[in-house]
Amino acid sequence: MTRSNPVLPRLLPVLLGALLISGTAQAGEAASAPAPVSPAKAAAKAAAQAAAQKEAAKPETAPAKEAPAAAPTAPTAPTAPAAPARVSDEELRQRLEARIAAVRAAQAEHKPAARKPAHVHKAAAVGAGAVAVAAHAAAGHGSGHAAPHWSYGGDGGPAEWGKLQSEFSLCGSGKRQSPIDIRGGVKVDLEPIRFDYRPTGFNVIDNGHTVQANLGGGNSIEVAGRRYELVQFHFHRPSEERINGRQFEMVAHLVHKDPEGRLAVVAVLMDQGKQHPMVQLVWNSLPLEKKEETMSPVPIDMNLMLPEDRRYYTYMGSLTTPPCSEGVLWLVLKQPAQLSAEQLAVFAKLYPMNARPIQQASGRMIKESN
Ligand SMILES: [Zn+2]
Repeated sequence: MTRSNPVLPRLLPVLLGALLISGTAQAGEAASAPAPVSPAKAAAKAAAQAAAQKEAAKPETAPAKEAPAAAPTAPTAPTAPAAPARVSDEELRQRLEARIAAVRAAQAEHKPAARKPAHVHKAAAVGAGAVAVAAHAAAGHGSGHAAPHWSYGGDGGPAEWGKLQSEFSLCGSGKRQSPIDIRGGVKVDLEPIRFDYRPTGFNVIDNGHTVQANLGGGNSIEVAGRRYELVQFHFHRPSEERINGRQFEMVAHLVHKDPEGRLAVVAVLMDQGKQHPMVQLVWNSLPLEKKEETMSPVPIDMNLMLPEDRRYYTYMGSLTTPPCSEGVLWLVLKQPAQLSAEQLAVFAKLYPMNARPIQQASGRMIKESN
């Protein structure tokens, strides 16, 4: 028994090769090859997909889960252990060239699908090597194209925003700006916001102003007869909005857009308390570098981002970051969610203060749920 062992490792590659060629591969005891499905086939499929479309793999075709080691998108394919029996050098070279061309095209275009990353799916995220460089996700948070630097203090601070460039002028001159101190609301039977959220793949980016999660499609709200799709959410510390003068530890802004481009932002205020599992999911995927997106390996369920009580305040306001566009429907949930002291500390380390000062309410109508 001990004598025959040294022979096995030498025989294994031959056996494996034979099995792959016959197309009826079975894993046997080859512990290092976790995939009973042909990994070479999986690699070929992955490479072809990557080359064909920059908007990456559809979940049902992504082979990633079965063959994590065999589906590299980086140009390291020639050393992939699974491939040699079936893929010629020439084929690999062609695939690499196609892949590089696709990446170049995406860069030249300079507007990848970051705004609405339909490609962010669990399966794709696992296999694709977790990191995708993408442009600034625009919806709701400043357009980012060659914009002058704006910040929350000093030069470029909130008092200067309106003067930084003409597109930002509303930040200085707007009369329906956000955030506001919410008080004196008219108490009525507000219709409930109809949340239609489901577990969804997402990317996380530190865009230099906040930590933001960009979501795949399929999440929406319906309010006042209009349907808005959830595009992204991000955080501020402390909360930008106040309720009767009170500021909260943090706030999450869930930015929704309707087909005409109108925005509705659901604000979830956050107090210190117990750990928040969905916030943790976002923190888990914090990118190592600013302005680079990291795909979460796990989908997020936005229902769990919301507090139990969904009553809310509502008023018309603006984006709270340049360009401070107005006509934004604000839906501020009354009940704060909770996150732990440790979770607060994670964000505070990145952004100790990223809240725009309170703006004049100027007699705007504020309604609140009974
Ligand atoms: Zn915000």
